[in-house]
Amino acid sequence: MARHLVTSALPYANGPIHFGHVTGAYLPADLHVRALRQRGEEVLYVCGADEHGVAITIGAEKDKVPYPEYVARWRDEIKQTFDAFDIRFDAWSGTSICPEHAATSQEFFRVLDGKGYLQVKQTEQLYCEHDRMFLADRYIVGTCHECGHEEARGDECPKCGQWLDPLRMPKTACKVCGNAPVRRSTTHWYLDLPKLRDEGLGRWFADHAWKPNVRAFVGNMLEDLQPRPITRDMGWGVPVPADLARGESGKVLYVWFDAPIGYISFTKEWARSQGRPDEWRRWWQDAGTRLVHFIGKDNIPFHTVVFPAMLFGMGEPWILPTDVPANEFYNLQGGKFSTSKGWTVPVAEFMGKFDAQATRFHLAASMPENSDSEWRFEDFQTTNNSLLADVVGNLAQRVLRFLEKNFDGRVPEVPAHLVEELDRAILEECGAFGDPIEELLQTRFRRAAEVFIQNGRVANVYIDRLAPWALKKTDPVRCGAVLATACEWLVWMARWMAPFMPKKAQALWEQLGLAGRADEVMAQAMPSMGAWRTLTAGAKLGTPIGLFPKIEDAAIAAEIEALKSRART
Ligand SMILES: [Zn+2]
Ligand SMILES: [Zn+2]
Repeated sequence: MARHLVTSALPYANGPIHFGHVTGAYLPADLHVRALRQRGEEVLYVCGADEHGVAITIGAEKDKVPYPEYVARWRDEIKQTFDAFDIRFDAWSGTSICPEHAATSQEFFRVLDGKGYLQVKQTEQLYCEHDRMFLADRYIVGTCHECGHEEARGDECPKCGQWLDPLRMPKTACKVCGNAPVRRSTTHWYLDLPKLRDEGLGRWFADHAWKPNVRAFVGNMLEDLQPRPITRDMGWGVPVPADLARGESGKVLYVWFDAPIGYISFTKEWARSQGRPDEWRRWWQDAGTRLVHFIGKDNIPFHTVVFPAMLFGMGEPWILPTDVPANEFYNLQGGKFSTSKGWTVPVAEFMGKFDAQATRFHLAASMPENSDSEWRFEDFQTTNNSLLADVVGNLAQRVLRFLEKNFDGRVPEVPAHLVEELDRAILEECGAFGDPIEELLQTRFRRAAEVFIQNGRVANVYIDRLAPWALKKTDPVRCGAVLATACEWLVWMARWMAPFMPKKAQALWEQLGLAGRADEVMAQAMPSMGAWRTLTAGAKLGTPIGLFPKIEDAAIAAEIEALKSRART
């Protein structure tokens, strides 16, 4: 049995996360982790906020709050969104608060430098003598060197869309104080990606089994690799180790370099909190670990080339990722998610009106696994009403209500002579069923959702065929046996439901009168003839309560209207 270390892309503490992020990198990981746990595998799920970089310092300055306060606000808000979705990490932290983070990042710098994987270059950069700082490109405003637009940013021109080189801009000013900056020489460190590629990383990538979209995305990037700067001149971030800084001050590690190291430092923090500070090594330095990064498309080169290059450069015994099941983009109602343009769904507000568990299921069923996909409110309604309510919820309610009314709310007996017939009826004659948990283990999330619904359909066919309601007066024993068998199927439905909708699964579990948990480790993976029943005749069932209330057309129309009006303002 492998040890599974699962990560989700660290959310950037500079704004809210939306459905697209959730279904891109967090929900798939959570589903995979829950499925692994249900199979009794050893799993650690690590995430936390990415809290350094220029976008954050600019955001904080705009809001006039100290950087730590700014990132804490977003870290908390992002975590609330994950909580609302029932996405549960074992380790959750932030790169600016994790006590292990700076030292771990500096160790990477030190080891990579010692092994000759860092290059040092002198470059010129714009410096503000008034604010006494080098200006990162987004701290520069000035004239575009391509089109002459006078209000371009140091990284990009809003008018012509070109990427800009601040040193080529004819006129520049410091964004903070407005004064003209001067050119000054500065030292920066670069990660020597071509060297890492040639010493083995290239072979590792080529030999690895990747999802087709991942391999296609990275494409020829490996051939065109350039050394990549890993330091910046700014005051917010992990400082370059003083003894290696060559007398330069005010250098921090570039945010892209320290962020993924967060996966490791958060694991260290978790291990310490468990009272086993060395435990992290089992996860990051033992070949028995399967490391899986869940990310969105934009992070593919980073997690399949750059971060593995860093780990590879550290040398043995550090492990490299086993799989990077990246998702494509998820859109919203025909457009791209955009918080700034109002084309988004405020999560807390949505969860106040709709069921978070059903939302999880719909996000899984519409996940952008192999191609872009989108959230449409009408589709969410269809998933909830026609699949969850009609196929699954209604089945459970019909069976349990009937038993409550006619069998004293107890599991009826299945006489020995009927067991085989009824086993055969549901397991062999009402359509094929599959194992959604296995699909989740294989990171086929949409397929997993389909299989779960298909398994619900099997029981509907079974009930329609054996028509227990009609047997109530003519053959009450057979009537009870048919329904008891349906209850056995519902036990399995609750288990299969557990990763997708843990709370609903638990509710169904309790309605079936069961103690313990719907997501407990399963002794058998799938029902089979003569070996799938667990209920005891005469056992008291719980109170049947509808699992999936239907969503009215008006509620969906109101959401679409609200989205349009947000986008207008
Ligand atoms: Zn321009
Ligand atoms: Zn200035």
